[in-house]
Amino acid sequence: MSLTDPRAAEAQAGELAVRLATLDLPARLDLIAREVPGRLVFTTSLGIEDQVLTHAIALAKLAGTRIEIATLDTGRLFPETYETWVETEAAYGIRIHAYVPEREAEEAFVREEGINGFRRSVAARQACCGFRKVEPLGRALDGAAGWLTGLRAGQSANRAATPLAAYDAARGLVKLNPLADWTRERIDLFVRENFVPYNTLHDRGFPSIGCAPCTRAVKVGEPERAGRWWWEQEDKKECGLHVGRPGASVQPGQEAAV
Ligand code: SF4
Repeated sequence: MSLTDPRAAEAQAGELAVRLATLDLPARLDLIAREVPGRLVFTTSLGIEDQVLTHAIALAKLAGTRIEIATLDTGRLFPETYETWVETEAAYGIRIHAYVPEREAEEAFVREEGINGFRRSVAARQACCGFRKVEPLGRALDGAAGWLTGLRAGQSANRAATPLAAYDAARGLVKLNPLADWTRERIDLFVRENFVPYNTLHDRGFPSIGCAPCTRAVKVGEPERAGRWWWEQEDKKECGLHVGRPGASVQPGQEAAV
């Protein structure tokens, strides 16, 4: 696969998506590792889908060799998320690389807006997501040829068209979503059958877990991501990680992952 010619890369990513569709998860990761040249980065939020991917990457002995596992440590995560992080590294003998906010940006935001200033306006919330998530993600993906995520089409209506692979022209890499066609039930079954460590908040009404001040438990019957930025209107919910990128499953103005 060549990433120097965007049109060719787009076509090749589409072909890769077709080939991935017929494979099981280990075979998908094997094909990705062979077909996508250069550095591969998997960004995990330590949520349950990402734990399935971490398990599969570790068992395939791709962690730290072919695929770097990275997380965006916003500094505002739940204690349970940090416990999951520790437990995961111990279970698989891996290291999850942390990308943290720039100190000057964090200090300036807290000085201007207050420690929980992200509640003051959509703009302030997006600024917080910007320096805590979007900017560190850019550093995590710097020079990467492929970006693996745990996005699933079934997570929300906004993600219904999530592809297994697509060329991200803005970042100049291939975005890979090896669980795009998995259901939540299949994720849960995989975790149970394979004793995958997972965040205990999932057992307490948190199907989707982000920063602690911006995530609540959902009520019975609510969508999986209803507990994220619940005080905002649906069309304002986005943090910029998966937004507005060609080939991304989420479009501008819609919610985003992590
Ligand atoms: Fe800030 Fe909340 Fe976004 Fe986390 S989810 S980066 S605390 S606004």
